[in-house]
Amino acid sequence: MMPLLTTFDAEIRLPIAGFDARDDHALPGKRAAVVHLQGCPLACGYCETASRMGPARRGMVGEWEAIESLLAARGGEIDAVVFSGGEPTLHADLADAADACRALGLAVGLHTAGAYPERLEHLLPRLDWVALDAKGRGADFDRIGGRRGIWQRHARSLSLLLESDVPFECRTTVHWRDFTLEALERLAMTLADCGVRRYVIQPARLERCLDPAYCEPVDDAPSREALETLVRRLRRHFTSVELRG
Ligand code: SF4
Repeated sequence: MMPLLTTFDAEIRLPIAGFDARDDHALPGKRAAVVHLQGCPLACGYCETASRMGPARRGMVGEWEAIESLLAARGGEIDAVVFSGGEPTLHADLADAADACRALGLAVGLHTAGAYPERLEHLLPRLDWVALDAKGRGADFDRIGGRRGIWQRHARSLSLLLESDVPFECRTTVHWRDFTLEALERLAMTLADCGVRRYVIQPARLERCLDPAYCEPVDDAPSREALETLVRRLRRHFTSVELRG
């Protein structure tokens, strides 16, 4: 099939790392396709995508157009697109791609760690939903994300979301090398105090971690029951708290 070009995407360059034709959990209440973009400025020890996707690169001519053609061909089967990573806001052309999706009549979601608040601010008017990683509290974010100076940028991204009308949830991936149960509760309560209303805790998977040390179980990890008890305790501070996975 010939690539479908819209007025938005003649110059769009995005490095496509993967495409999920349908994921009914990617954007609440929508039948979504997921577009994974390559590259991330962080290096979380538990990351299972960075090594699989490879380093950041410039998108080639035609990469985005091929995805747009796939999206157009799925009209009626999906009603949303979620951009995920890596870190999709790494790429300046993301806003134009979001516009192109909206021109197809699709809602647009974003999964981000919030490292680029300026890009997020530009994107927000184009977005219908955001999942913002909350990796740790304050400077713990940098320790867990493997890069200094990000936590302040993440805080600005969170503020932008709190000030916007765009629905969003915060997500924390928990590896017990990074957290104690008490530290996780402090992070959750900080988010609740900031005004976050929807929160997801997802235990890290150990199979394909970026740092091989993260593939090993942690000896003194809290039990699943202890984590579930914490989630129940947190529920009164949020509209929803989900333990996913
Ligand atoms: S933010 Fe962390 S977990 Fe997410 S893609 Fe980047 S390195 Fe991996």
